[in-house]
Amino acid sequence: MKRVFGLAVVLLIAGAGMYLAQRRKQADAVTANAVVDLAADWQRDASRIPMHMTRISDAEEVRIGNELASRYADRDLDAEQKATEQYVEKIGAALAAHAQRKLPFHFHLVPDRGLVNAFALPGGQVFIGQGLLDLMRSEDEVAFVLGHEVEHVDHFHSMERVQVEARLRKVDFGALSELAQLPITLWQTGYSKDEEAEADREGLRLACVAGYSPRGALDLLNRLVKLRQDFVVQSKTPTGELSRLAVEGLEGYFRSHPLPSERLTQAQAVIAEDHLPLDRTLRPFHVEYEITSQ
Ligand SMILES: [Zn+2]
Repeated sequence: MKRVFGLAVVLLIAGAGMYLAQRRKQADAVTANAVVDLAADWQRDASRIPMHMTRISDAEEVRIGNELASRYADRDLDAEQKATEQYVEKIGAALAAHAQRKLPFHFHLVPDRGLVNAFALPGGQVFIGQGLLDLMRSEDEVAFVLGHEVEHVDHFHSMERVQVEARLRKVDFGALSELAQLPITLWQTGYSKDEEAEADREGLRLACVAGYSPRGALDLLNRLVKLRQDFVVQSKTPTGELSRLAVEGLEGYFRSHPLPSERLTQAQAVIAEDHLPLDRTLRPFHVEYEITSQ
């Protein structure tokens, strides 16, 4: 009788174990889907999902970044867009020279006035939307934005995003062509609040080391505070140079980044602590190109 009872207990424990394992499996699947579904929410922090992250080699990261960039980069730019991209490349190269990681950084223009955003793919492939450039008044503002993106690469945020997504979507990490199918929105949705704050601080310092004025960051963040107040908080109708398309893009930008007022407060604190050179002269935003008529 004792033995029968013992067997029953063992079976019960085994059954409970199987039941719990099954439930956990379901819960994991739900969590993973929920995370993917929340892609548009900047508070989503896939990097907090407990998983062991193996750091891959720089060469492998560059290969993955190049593969993704070849899908996203627009090769069909007109003369003005090409000149704008060269301008972005020039500013980016000045920053990349001072990045911690020695990667082949590339800077691309996304010629879409509705894209009020910038993002960085693994390996140093940085993209900036025309819609975000349209808001810029000085080269120093562009340098702050590109510096922020360089720091997402420098601190492995972009690469870890690919690793997390590959795991969630059960994509074999060695299958480059499969990885390259990951949607571009993954990088446009921003990172955790901590990672965004880190990219802001380090990006601001990087822009200054590269010779730019920290006032660029303050000017841009002040403008974003006002734009958010007007078009998100008060829902004003866009007039003048700001199109409906740009305002929709802005709303997406605010969803994917921490509040501009918080970013501004942090930038002011970093400038004060590091004694960053506020007296440095701002460089005008200046794209030059020739119009050839036939
Ligand atoms: Zn960011």
